[in-house]
Amino acid sequence: MNDMHGRVAVVTGAASGIGLATAQALARHGASVALVSLPGDDFAAAEAACAVHHGKTLTVTADVSDSAAVREAFQRIEVELGPIDAVHNNAGISAVAALTDTSDELWHRQLATNLSGSFYVLREAARVMKTRRRGAVVNTASELALMGQAGYVAYTATKGGILAMTRSAAAELASWGLRVNAVCPGTTLTPMFLREFEGAADPQAELADNEASVAVGRIADPAEIAEGVVFLLSDRASYITGTHLVLDGGRTGCFAIGS
Ligand code: NAD
Repeated sequence: MNDMHGRVAVVTGAASGIGLATAQALARHGASVALVSLPGDDFAAAEAACAVHHGKTLTVTADVSDSAAVREAFQRIEVELGPIDAVHNNAGISAVAALTDTSDELWHRQLATNLSGSFYVLREAARVMKTRRRGAVVNTASELALMGQAGYVAYTATKGGILAMTRSAAAELASWGLRVNAVCPGTTLTPMFLREFEGAADPQAELADNEASVAVGRIADPAEIAEGVVFLLSDRASYITGTHLVLDGGRTGCFAIGS
């Protein structure tokens, strides 16, 4: 339970969903946690979840698609919490559209947050961690980095890019004592999922189909994704770098029909 005791951790997209759950788990494991999310986000739930534990909590508003804002956020976190040991590079958006309806604007918006944003955070994490030759980063990809889905061409492009970036960064940073990995969550019960679910023509049928395609027969709780992230950020994963952990209830690895 004290895997992250005394560590300083940064979580982007921490105001809700998977980021909130990771922030809570990191705090439970003893870390001080910087909660980074968009200006205007409601941080109350994340702050309350972390406050019950011993480490400090710092709330920082920044848009990860703005490289200057990311740099400023990291500087502020190091001043207020101390040297950063662990980063969950998680902020992301999903926009659903058929390929032929995917506008230039949607494509660029999707890439700006998910791919450029993840790059800016990863680069800043590497800059501060290299000076001390220790640290770990976990990037949030998706099961949709590993398989295709109709309506998600732009999203999957960003998530595939995150996996590629993870491997190259890990190769470059290993000699500096830094580890870089990714997680590939399956469908997870978060506000992002609920927005898509509520927009479906027949939400209940969509949920049933979704669950039927998962070997364990249900979608994930964000806390189940957070467990994988904390493991990869902790010293228990000291020999793991340049790879991804698939947290999808068996969707990509198992043929669910007939089970
Ligand atoms: P969410 O919408 O519940 O939470 C995302 C958080 O990121 C929000 O607080 C949002 O305001 C913040 N955010 C969005 N854009 C940002 C930006 N530019 N700068 C800073 N913060 C920003 O979503 P979630 O489901 O928790 O998703 C978290 C990550 O997990 C995303 O990268 C998503 O692609 C990935 N993911 C989600 C699922 C799922 O089913 N929910 C599955 C696989 C991967």
